[in-house]
Amino acid sequence: MLHELTIHQAASLLRSGEITAVELTEAVLARILAVDNDVKAYLALTPEVALEQAAEADATLADARRAGTLAELPLLTGIPLAIKDVISVEGIPATCGSKILENYLPPYSATAVLKLRAAGAVLLGKTNTDEFAMGSSTENSAYFTTHNPWDLERVPGGSSGGSAAAVAADECLAALGTDTGGSVRQPAALCGVVGLKPTYGRVSRYGLIAYASSLDQIGSLAKDVTDAAILLGAIAGHDPRDSTSVNAPVPDYAAPFQHKPGLSGLRIGVPKEYFVPGMQPEVEAAVRAAIGVMRDLGAEIREVSLPHTDLALPVYYLIAPAEASANLARFDGIRYGLSASGGSLWETYRQTRGQGFGPEVKRRIMLGAYALSAGYYDAYYLKAQQVRTLIKQDFDNVLRDVDVIACPTSPTTAFRIGEKVDDPLSMYLTDIFTLSLNLAGICGLSLPCGFDAAGLPIGLQLIAGPFEEPRLLQAAYAYEQATDWHTRKPKLEAES
Ligand code: GLN
Repeated sequence: MLHELTIHQAASLLRSGEITAVELTEAVLARILAVDNDVKAYLALTPEVALEQAAEADATLADARRAGTLAELPLLTGIPLAIKDVISVEGIPATCGSKILENYLPPYSATAVLKLRAAGAVLLGKTNTDEFAMGSSTENSAYFTTHNPWDLERVPGGSSGGSAAAVAADECLAALGTDTGGSVRQPAALCGVVGLKPTYGRVSRYGLIAYASSLDQIGSLAKDVTDAAILLGAIAGHDPRDSTSVNAPVPDYAAPFQHKPGLSGLRIGVPKEYFVPGMQPEVEAAVRAAIGVMRDLGAEIREVSLPHTDLALPVYYLIAPAEASANLARFDGIRYGLSASGGSLWETYRQTRGQGFGPEVKRRIMLGAYALSAGYYDAYYLKAQQVRTLIKQDFDNVLRDVDVIACPTSPTTAFRIGEKVDDPLSMYLTDIFTLSLNLAGICGLSLPCGFDAAGLPIGLQLIAGPFEEPRLLQAAYAYEQATDWHTRKPKLEAES
């Protein structure tokens, strides 16, 4: 079935001429029609644009075949991808899962999207997200909740839940998500796919509608580690339009896989703070078993300590809302999207923001504005920034002695829709193992490492230092090759 292909499988079939990009795109669009009524991964589909781009890709492939230059074509030529709705694509609605941007059409595309297009990728549409990427379940989307393909009664995780569910349900070959505190890795874990959050500065944030600018990164959601590497290679790199993007060379992330099987010589740290009472026992068992597999592959396993781990959650929920309250000030009813006229200017602001933002966004704006206010800045925001440095130093210290850190991605598997919506604190706790990496600016990846008794996927999180994505991907690839978790597919009703 064409929609089940990975990027690297499809790329070789496109090159050999066994399939065309139009056939592949049609197959994926048919798959979306068949299952997305149940999964609800997409907020908007752009089939005409996709088929046009696929036809262009076929022409590019045909030219290269004639010229004998197929090997030089980017692997993404003709590959259908999905884009999280907080990432701008020129002329295609970007709602950010919010009513306040319901009718907003971005006048330009994000750098990551331009790079995908330059590589010949085909864009299928925009995927569902928690409003402005604030959440862990997609239940904060103002439009609808996405359902987990492994159990439609459960959440896909969030906030990139639409992208993760689309990948898991074969409604795209891979997708872009964004990760501010775990929003690529956590939904990847809950949907049984691979999710990679790059180092801060590795991928341009230009055209990503900001949530918390010092934490946000665009990342890949993919069916396997090789695809996650291919996608990262396509979007990474310096961008003069994003002053926080780093001018470091972009390696061929998928290249080392061919050369170095096994993990001999790799030192893996297991942080004791990441195995906490209250986590689902099956998650702990699966992650410990995965670490055992990595030991058998030659890795040296050491227990390590990240002593400030328990401060990550309070620090994140000061810094992220503080930045959000500033970033979201631009939605004033004058410049973008919804405008509720209120007589005076002040009333227009009040009405627009009152009607346009949902409850979680309002909660964050209030928290953030409070933390930044004159009387409390030092006590909350400044203190949080100081503790953020301690959290970063924890990682610096540990990553001097080990190459990679291994731990769970999420303390539980996918929870039921509705289970946590009325309890923001328990929702915030689902990101307890992912937030620290964003605070430290380092890279991390989640990949499938088992299933619980209910048949729900479990994610293993691997963490490495800044710009150590090659090491992270190499470790993940070796584990993936030794196991078959990534080959399992959810059984969706439409097929039975
Ligand atoms: N769940 C976290 C939050 O609500 C992380 C979200 C994200 O990474 N975008 O802020």
